[in-house]
Amino acid sequence: MCCLVACNRAEEGLIGHVVKVSDGDTITVLDSSKTQHKIRLQGIDAPEKSQAYGDAAQRYLAGLVAGQEVRVAWNKRDKYNRILGTVYIKRAEVNLAMLRAGYAWHYKKFDSTPAYAQAESEARAARRGLWAGLDPIPPEQFRHGRARTPAAPDGGARRLAEPLGGASPPGEPRARTEYRAGRTLPVAARTPAPVNATWPDTGYWLSTNSNKRHNRNCENYRKTRGYPCRKNDGDRCGKCGG
Ligand SMILES: [Zn+2]
Repeated sequence: MCCLVACNRAEEGLIGHVVKVSDGDTITVLDSSKTQHKIRLQGIDAPEKSQAYGDAAQRYLAGLVAGQEVRVAWNKRDKYNRILGTVYIKRAEVNLAMLRAGYAWHYKKFDSTPAYAQAESEARAARRGLWAGLDPIPPEQFRHGRARTPAAPDGGARRLAEPLGGASPPGEPRARTEYRAGRTLPVAARTPAPVNATWPDTGYWLSTNSNKRHNRNCENYRKTRGYPCRKNDGDRCGKCGG
């Protein structure tokens, strides 16, 4: 039972330490009574772990909150019984920081916070985070795509290829995809390995599974499941420098 004074508050607060970062929009907070709370950051939707930039979004969020004391403002739970919350470190708002860094979509279906919409469009315009990628797929669309058919054995990366209407027979080249610097490659240009020889040689290769960018000198260049990309797409490969 709650007290009369507290009941006047529209929002509940929770203070604790972040003990787990599950992905780019879900964390676990341990409070002072040693109770764990799963928190879904409200108003944002980060790429799924199996999606391009999923790992990068998780790492970015971990960089902000892992091990930190946070305050969570919330007033409802989602259908998985996770707290839908706004996370703060001191006075900085983490949900907003994820949008600003370009590691999440503003979840407009469930939220209409103007600052969130603005943060997303600024990140888009500056091509920060996932907006540097080619034709980012909103996580909700990605999840629905996966729900319709059994999950691909590679964790869903194959999704990207499916608008093509299946792979070409071996030895039969696909229609040439024209590439101009600065232009976004159409989804149809992104297919699983093996590499199509007609793809543009942009000098950079984004591996779909790892979200790592390789340069021409790398053994992985055009050898992994991925697609041609630009200089600042994805994360730098540790071996070749990206
Ligand atoms: Zn490399």
